[in-house]
Amino acid sequence: MALAPPLSYSSFRTYLECPLRWKFLYVDRLPEVPRGYFTFGRVVHTVLEDLLRPLVVPSARRAGPGESQRTLDEWRSGAEAKAPWMTRAELLAAYDRAWTGEGYGSAEEEARYRALGEDLLVRYYDQLLDEQPKPVAVEEHLEARWDGIPIHGYIDRIDRTPAGGLEILDYKTSRELSAEDAKGSDQLSLYQVLVESNYPEPVEGLTLYHLRSLTPHRVPPRDRRHLTHLYDRLGTVSDGIRAEAYEPSPGRHCARCDFRALCPEFRNVPAADQVRLRQLVDQFERLRAEQDRLDDEMTRAAEELHRAAEELGVHRLPGTRSTALRRREETWQYSLDAVRPELEAAGLAERVASGRTEEVRRLVRDPALDPELRRRVAETGARRVRWYWELEGNGERSRTSD
Ligand code: SF4
Repeated sequence: MALAPPLSYSSFRTYLECPLRWKFLYVDRLPEVPRGYFTFGRVVHTVLEDLLRPLVVPSARRAGPGESQRTLDEWRSGAEAKAPWMTRAELLAAYDRAWTGEGYGSAEEEARYRALGEDLLVRYYDQLLDEQPKPVAVEEHLEARWDGIPIHGYIDRIDRTPAGGLEILDYKTSRELSAEDAKGSDQLSLYQVLVESNYPEPVEGLTLYHLRSLTPHRVPPRDRRHLTHLYDRLGTVSDGIRAEAYEPSPGRHCARCDFRALCPEFRNVPAADQVRLRQLVDQFERLRAEQDRLDDEMTRAAEELHRAAEELGVHRLPGTRSTALRRREETWQYSLDAVRPELEAAGLAERVASGRTEEVRRLVRDPALDPELRRRVAETGARRVRWYWELEGNGERSRTSD
């Protein structure tokens, strides 16, 4: 068993997408080909850090390493942060210093990105002069152990809210960004856990900030159920890394993977095996087509038998060697979205924490539960009835199609 290293958001996401790619990056430490849009994002973040750091008024931290900010003792007063604490010319000079042409496909592409960066930084700067944030940290590296799983991350900005809590903000230079992205962002969820583990104040908001449109997409902090879902997936990734489970997981992401030449998914078949394997693949293809044809035929025959049985009001249809028996199966389906508000109001949301329908069924059958609540939960269910055929012959029964 290997030791699982602290998981960052990008490491977690990489393993989920493809464990083998994770190994190439985090175990073998293979370099990736530089890409212009990543370079661009890094440069803009560097300049934003220069721009915002003078505004930082540090907050007390619980404990822990990675103190990259000044302490309260070192922070003299807010006077030094009065606008303009950095002129526009100084901002552009910082941008010039940070710029690198690494990874761009052509001089024209680099020039386009460079102009885009200048434009969005200047617009962001102008907006900042009108309304200064109150950061307690910028580009801060935080670490924590989340119920045994080591995690870490670099957080673009943590702000003090008017109520005295904290707001986490992550800048995005991507072309598109929506409020839905903020709602579903695992990155923001992980950052919430990191900040809650390192700061005494509560997290009151999470923001993905779209720099191209100067739009903050703000959402409330995640609730326990949301975080538990992320924790479970982090646990799966952490277990996989400890077990050194590095299987390739091919998909659309392979198109931007730099390790295809090393990946078994993309390795060529040796010449000596090509003829034999081509024949096997052709045979497999024929069998699959035949199987699909038989499945369709079976479904049509079963439907015709159901129609005949309903018209005649019978449930046994004799054949030459077997008898077809019409069987009924009844199940109840529950919508967790409909059930959850009832259970939250009763303080029982934990009973459906995993989100499985079986948990709701268990609740409905639980005699210890308030009968009125059981009735209301049961009413959210929908009955599903399905008919299917069994074949009976020579004393044996076999289940067949619907
Ligand atoms: S090519 Fe695809 S399957 Fe292979 S390592 Fe890269 S991402 Fe994974």
